[in-house]
Amino acid sequence: MCLYGKYIELQESTTVSKPKQPKSDNPLELAKNFKQQIKTCCRNSKEGKPDAVTYLWICVSSEGIMHYKDEGAKQLGMEEWLNVVDEAASLGASWVVLTLSTRLSQHDGVWEICRWAQDAHGMMVGLHLAVEEVNEEELASIKSLDLSKVRILIRREALPALGHLEKEGIQLWTANPQSEGIKPHCQGPAKMIYVNANGMLYTCGLVDGIDQYHMGSVLEKKLRQIMQDKELPHSVEEGIHRISPACDGCPALVANFFSENF
Ligand code: SF4
Repeated sequence: MCLYGKYIELQESTTVSKPKQPKSDNPLELAKNFKQQIKTCCRNSKEGKPDAVTYLWICVSSEGIMHYKDEGAKQLGMEEWLNVVDEAASLGASWVVLTLSTRLSQHDGVWEICRWAQDAHGMMVGLHLAVEEVNEEELASIKSLDLSKVRILIRREALPALGHLEKEGIQLWTANPQSEGIKPHCQGPAKMIYVNANGMLYTCGLVDGIDQYHMGSVLEKKLRQIMQDKELPHSVEEGIHRISPACDGCPALVANFFSENF
């Protein structure tokens, strides 16, 4: 399977679940129920209610999954990170993408999160690599996961250096499918939970660190509360909605290019 291979798993995972069948066989009642469902959908759409969550995007600090530069900030332990995965999965997330800024072997804890996501929740795992090198030890760790549910996300430019991973049965995906400066062809952040290395929630990676888009901390609020809070910013302002390196690896972006990469 090549870099631009088939991405059927994701398409399946994003399929909208079937609506429950109305209990009654009475045609009038069925029609009434149907009308009511449509009204509810329209109302939700107008009210800007967030969609069901599909993606969890975790940004890992250069120091590793349980470390953060800001000494004043509480460091999240493994238990807390696994809780984040549990909560996201309970909201419907079928994907977790971890963005790693240094090489894989420096990210202790990443493997436990990946295994938990796969084993406990059957989630697809994306490892977004910034470093264009994977050594033997790192390769063995990747291969210890269920490879049918692993995708390695790399920048297009890294393909010459990392293309050999495909010979190992590892599927590579483009982390930056669009050029910088243009409007992202992304699904927007409404179906995504973005957590930075410090456990802070932001609308998405593009606006990490901008107060206006801060949505709280995983240590203070349940993800369900955050995703359902209409007062919080679930979208990015049009004026700054442009592709930047901060969008690299964004699952809400990359997902839109899977079918185009057939
Ligand atoms: S990080 Fe970029 S691509 Fe992803 S949702 Fe935000 S604006 Fe869209």
